[in-house]
Amino acid sequence: YFITFEGVEGSGKSSILKSVEQKLADLGYDVMATREPGGIGIAEKIRDIILDPAHTAMDARTEALLYAAARRQHLAEKVMPALASGKIVLCDRFVDSSLAYQGFARGLGMEDVFAINQFAIQDLMPDRTLFFDIEPEKGLARIAANQDRERNRLDLENIRFHEQVYEAYHQLVIKFPNRIHVIDADRPFAQVEANTVNHMVSFLDH
Ligand code: C5P
Repeated sequence: YFITFEGVEGSGKSSILKSVEQKLADLGYDVMATREPGGIGIAEKIRDIILDPAHTAMDARTEALLYAAARRQHLAEKVMPALASGKIVLCDRFVDSSLAYQGFARGLGMEDVFAINQFAIQDLMPDRTLFFDIEPEKGLARIAANQDRERNRLDLENIRFHEQVYEAYHQLVIKFPNRIHVIDADRPFAQVEANTVNHMVSFLDH
């Protein structure tokens, strides 16, 4: 199974993913956690191009294509082989991030961004996506309370942008009700963790 974790920054999805990986492994599931670009050299290099602050001229479509290219390489080199060997793959962010960030918040259009991603993923959509639902203001406040390194990110994009990302995720939840499951992330970590593990186990054993 291919499971993706989505949400705005500060939703806790990355920490939850790590602990869920451990819990599932303890329960005997053959699980692999990853995130784009996933330590894949080619995908890391593409990501460096996207994130290079010197690249102020980066066009939004170029950015979307580069994300799709990095995604493809990570998929081909790491995710597809793992799925083929029977592993449960947990991936921190995937195509829904591009639909929300590039498609909606950057204004490229979710349909167009989905089209270039379809070329990249060849119908390999997640079997299940968990959307960690917390309002961006609350998520960003969590990050600000955490550490200075993360705080820099807040200056990169303003709150309005994150609100659009959040709205886009809600549209995706409505559009893909069978694939996307909403987890209330505005709760104590242990509760979100327990809800996630319970949902994963019932999904995997269904
Ligand atoms: O996964 P994480 O929360 O660390 O993602 C950090 C940031 O990467 C996002 O808030 C966003 O600015 C950027 N991103 C993006 N488009 C994607 C994936 C990530 O703009 N498709």
